[in-house]
This record gives sequence, structure tokens and C-alpha cells, in this order.
Amino acid sequence: MGSAELYELAQKVLAGGVSSDARRSQFVPLYVDRAHGAHLWDADGTEYVDYVLAQGPMVLGHTAPAVVDAVNRQLTRGQAYAAQHELEVTAAELVCRLVPCAELIRFNTVGSEAVIGAWRIARGATGRQKILKFEGHYHGWLDAALWSLHPAVDSAGPARSPRPVPGSGGQQLSGGADLIVAPWNDAEALTALMSEHGHEVAAVVMEPVLCNTGCIAPVPGFLDTVQRLCREHGALLIFDEVITGFRLAPGGAQEHLGVVPDLAVFGKAIAGGLPVAAIAGKASVMELVTRGEVGHAGTFNSNPLGMAAAVGNLTVLDRDRDRIYPHLYATGRRLMEGIRSAAADAGVPMLVDGPGPVFQTYFTASDSVLDYRDFAATDRAAAARFHRALFTRGINIVPRGLWFLSVAHTDADIDRTVEIVAEALREV
Ligand code: PLP
Repeated sequence: MGSAELYELAQKVLAGGVSSDARRSQFVPLYVDRAHGAHLWDADGTEYVDYVLAQGPMVLGHTAPAVVDAVNRQLTRGQAYAAQHELEVTAAELVCRLVPCAELIRFNTVGSEAVIGAWRIARGATGRQKILKFEGHYHGWLDAALWSLHPAVDSAGPARSPRPVPGSGGQQLSGGADLIVAPWNDAEALTALMSEHGHEVAAVVMEPVLCNTGCIAPVPGFLDTVQRLCREHGALLIFDEVITGFRLAPGGAQEHLGVVPDLAVFGKAIAGGLPVAAIAGKASVMELVTRGEVGHAGTFNSNPLGMAAAVGNLTVLDRDRDRIYPHLYATGRRLMEGIRSAAADAGVPMLVDGPGPVFQTYFTASDSVLDYRDFAATDRAAAARFHRALFTRGINIVPRGLWFLSVAHTDADIDRTVEIVAEALREV
């Protein structure tokens, strides 16, 4: 069946024709037939260079042999145990070896639940209720966390102290009372908010490189300020590394940026495409879970297929780190440079920013985007047209303008992409 036909049938049985709001589409969405390396093929036989990579997880590319072989070996030994097994111990050892803050961990299935688990641990550790989050940062779709992601700026309160804005109809609104929202990258505003509320803040949570609203690294010194304020006010620091984990470095953003949080949450890239998440933290904090004082559970936690994939994937990321990470940065930066010159040649005001293994293309004449309000001022309609123009030419990027790289992207993929970008920009 072709994509159009599938979409028509899907709309009769799947609400909106899709299984996640992140996949809603103004046009016939992508129906994947198969994916290998940096490429995928849709149900109509069209080939794409894939920069979505399942929204980030596929650092080794699609169907990486290390992951496929590990899952195949496990398949005939059982798909789910809800019991202990050797692979979960090996996977946990790998996470603890790679991630600086990981002295003890617990596995979950998806990032959203791991975030809520980490918040519970922070509340248990401090006896406080409030969580301070940054405007534009995404911490999953669950009620407690889905606040102030992309609010309408005119109703989101003052830039220096935004008010919590719920992200969905039907959301439990009482959670907003436990949130404080701060602007990203504004040390002064954060200092003021922490002087007022610091004594009731259990944790400050952030995407250490913001990837759900553009791709915005912390400005120099900002993370040091955050860490100092957390210490001064007795709050924990939580990194949501669901995107940055195992992508910016084997040890995630905390290794890349040199700041070690108290707790961190991982998802996406742990298991090379299988649903595995983890809460990792310093032993002094995670011991609350050890002692059973803070509850944590899940039928599918440390599912053996996921653990097999995690062991296969993390073993390669660790063993081949000197090949993998330089490749992600070099190809990412080469592509960023190519897009910048294509935009300059076309006379299109564009900012291309991010570390390389993940980056963002913004339609703006500004030379920096530092927080959510800056992002909201970029031309998002042009970004949507750009996405469409690329997609119809066989380049798949995250619709809001985010690009993920894998070790499977080659120089030939980059050259072809830059040529198509030049063509697409003429249409935008
Ligand atoms: N945190 C961040 C930073 C994310 O990007 C996401 C998902 O995109 C989540 C949490 C939620 O993870 P999941 O979709 O696996 O529930």
C-alpha cells in the first residue's frame, strides 16, 4: 500500500492518523517501509537521507549490526521477564562507566516517565515540592512536565519571570503550582527567582543543550551559575539528557560541557532505537531508591530486548568513541557550513547553530538565538516551508528545523544534502 492510501485508512482508526502528536502533518506523512544506515525508504519506494533518526536515538544509524545482532540473539531467549537478568547488569555497568553522574541507576522505558521519576527522587531527597524549569525546554508529555514548552508569548508573562503555561487541554492544572519557570541563559533572572523561591525548590531541571526549541547551548558561565545557585539553596540539579545523552559525547552533555549534575535522565540513544530510558544519579541521592524510601517500578523496566540493544549499542559507542564522536562533529559541522553558504548564496537570512551532532536551522536575520522568546521571533512559517521543500526532495529533517547526525552519514550524503538545500531555499 502507498503512503496516501495508508494515511487515508489510518485516519479512520488512529486519531489524527498518527500515534504521536509530534508526527501530525499538514500533508501525507512519512510511512517508512525500511531504514538502513542514514537512509530510509517510504511506502512509495522514495529514498530519503534521514536527519530525524527516530527523533534522535540512532547515533549508529538505522539497523546497526551491533544492535540487530544483540536483539536477534535475545529474541529466542525471551522477550519479557519482569525479573533480573545478566544483560541489565551489563547495561547498567556501561551507563555507570560512561556517564559522569551515574553512580547508581534505574531503567525505565521512555523518557517522559524517567523525568517524573527523577523529580520524585529530588522531592524525596529535599522534602520540597517545587521544580524550576526553563521556558521552551521539553521534559516529556506527562501532565506534571508539559508546561511552558512553546506558549503564546503574549500570554506567557514577563520574559524575566514567565508564568507556567499548560501544554494541553485536559491537563491536570494543579501541577502548575509546583513549577517555577525561568528564561534560559539568563543568570540574573535565575538568581532573582532563586532568591525568592530557592528555599522551596527541590530541583532545577534543564535540557543542558536545549534541543526542543532550536538548538541552544548554555552561554559561557551559565551552568556554573546554575550549579552554584543549586548548592546555595539546597536544590538538586537535574539534566534531562534524553536527547543529548550518548550523542554529544559518550557521557552526554555533562561530559561535553564539564558540569556534573546530581541526577540525569536518559532515553532515546541508550539502546539504539529500542525503548529504554534511565534515571542516573549520585549514590547519595539514588540511595533513597535503594532503601525503598522513594518508589520506582515498571513492568517493562530493563526489558531483555531493550537491554540487549543497550549493551550492543553502548559497547560500540564506548569501544569506538575515537571514531564515532569526531565523525558526528565533523560531518555535522561540514553540513552546517554547507547550509550557511547555500543560504548566503540564495540571499536568505538564516542562522545555523548547534554543536554538530545535532543542530538547528532558523530563518532569522539575527545572529543569535539564546532563549525561547528569541526562537519564537524567528520565521517559523518559513521553517515549515523549508521542511516541506526538503522532504519532497528526499531530505528528512525534524519539521521545526532540527537536524540529527549519525555515524552512518557520509560525505556523499552531506554533499547531496547541501545541493538539495540550495534548491529548496529557492522555493522557500
Ligand atoms: N526529555 C527530552 C529532552 C525529550 O526530547 C523527550 C522526547 O523527545 C522527552 C524528555 C520524553 O521522552 P519520550 O518521548 O521517550 O517519553
